[in-house]
Amino acid sequence: MKKLIAFDLDGTLAPSKSLLPNQIGLLLNQLLDHFQVCIISGGKYDIFVENVLTNKELDKNKFKNLHLMPTCGTRYYVYENNKWIKVYSEDFSKSEKKQIIEALQKGFEESGYKEIETYGELIEDRESQITLSTLGQDIIRLLGKKGLQIKEDWDPNDHKKRIICDLVQPLIPEFEVKVGGLTSIDVTKPGIDKAYGMKKIMEHLNIKKEDILFIGDHLQEGGNDYPVKAFGIDSLEISSWQETAVAIQTILYIIK
Ligand SMILES: [Mg+2]
Repeated sequence: MKKLIAFDLDGTLAPSKSLLPNQIGLLLNQLLDHFQVCIISGGKYDIFVENVLTNKELDKNKFKNLHLMPTCGTRYYVYENNKWIKVYSEDFSKSEKKQIIEALQKGFEESGYKEIETYGELIEDRESQITLSTLGQDIIRLLGKKGLQIKEDWDPNDHKKRIICDLVQPLIPEFEVKVGGLTSIDVTKPGIDKAYGMKKIMEHLNIKKEDILFIGDHLQEGGNDYPVKAFGIDSLEISSWQETAVAIQTILYIIK
């Protein structure tokens, strides 16, 4: 039997940059009775706090089995003595950050895909990851569902984001530039992706690849969940949090 069920966050446990649905909170409680559960995302820790940990249904008493991996596992948090504790973080230096931010600005400018209307900061320093959000970090917060729709429509086939990546990457060859979420480009140290996070948690929990089931919405080649599958972890692709709910219900039914 699997020991760890790992989930992508955006598009898998919740709609992009949105609150964890209560139904998912309730199902996670049940899952935490039987498995270690990891949530891994390109998003920063604050997003986990705002969108996941605020869920009223989630049972704090079960957090000892919950593992949070923001920014693709370059940070890792566990729950001990009634609070979330950072196990480690792997952050950029000041000069590395400056170099990356300049490259993102230049590449985005050159792409011609910069929109006139944007919402909040475009470039966000996530300490161990720098992220360009082409429409701005706050679009969902400011526009709600309409914002999500705009995000979904902006670049559904990743074409624009790939062009931006191709312009930025040569400027900072020592780092890795890749498509993040719907409208984001992530820069990390090379080799940092969700597979990296999975390796880290395997070390920490002393488990093997075979012990993990990963559930995500972007498992196709080029997607931000693909590295986990390519690494050889059993992976299940879903296309919405509702499908994730069905997947969790199925897991719970099977183990009964
Ligand atoms: Mg996703």
